[in-house]
Amino acid sequence: MSVAQRIREIKESLPEGVRLLAVSKFHPAESIMEAYNEGQRLFGENHVQELTQKQQILPADIEWHFIGHLQSNKVKYIVPFVSLIHSVDTEKLLGVINTQAEKCGRVVECLLEIHVAKEETKYGFDFDSAKELLESGRLNALKNVSVVGIMGMSSITDDESQIRREFASLSSFYRSMKESVAPQFRELSMGMSGDYHIAIEEGSTIIRLGTTIFGARQY
Ligand SMILES: *Cc1c(COP(=O)(O)O)cnc(C)c1O
Repeated sequence: MSVAQRIREIKESLPEGVRLLAVSKFHPAESIMEAYNEGQRLFGENHVQELTQKQQILPADIEWHFIGHLQSNKVKYIVPFVSLIHSVDTEKLLGVINTQAEKCGRVVECLLEIHVAKEETKYGFDFDSAKELLESGRLNALKNVSVVGIMGMSSITDDESQIRREFASLSSFYRSMKESVAPQFRELSMGMSGDYHIAIEEGSTIIRLGTTIFGARQY
């Protein structure tokens, strides 16, 4: 099946209120253009250099999302154009994004990455520290970032009930913050190729699909 056919099929199956982020990391500009010509406008990358190179040569109306671990010293390269940073994993990083965004006169939308999976290597806040930050009021001082939700990844496991529990816990945290200290919340980024059906059932607003759209990545 072609990239265009896959995009069409996935979009037709998405419930209202769920957006598709096409994760194009390691895939060439030609593959992105296939998806683009099918109407896809949201693309996600996880390396700064790859993202900036693609952004320079591809259509200006693409909304680029950053989904990887972001180093402070590279923030300045993506802040001028990035639409949403899904992977803010420390308060310090949020401060750096704010400083760089102020320099280019932008307000950059961000999500707090929450660590729920059992793997040790994944980055992110735990629920308690994210809650503490959101309740603290410290975000009010950061005029050039807007924290509009959370992002999470499930454990790498075949146990569907565990994946569902993890997504359900993210979803319940998201809703409780939205109803209390974070009324601006509108994005719950969860679900990848292997688990997006479950993520949608648990309330995802944006699924991040690479392999399902573009096939296997060539590293
Ligand atoms: C690579 C990546 C994806 C897409 O993964 P697939 O399994 O290929 O759909 C989604 N989210 C993040 C954070 C990623 O790094």
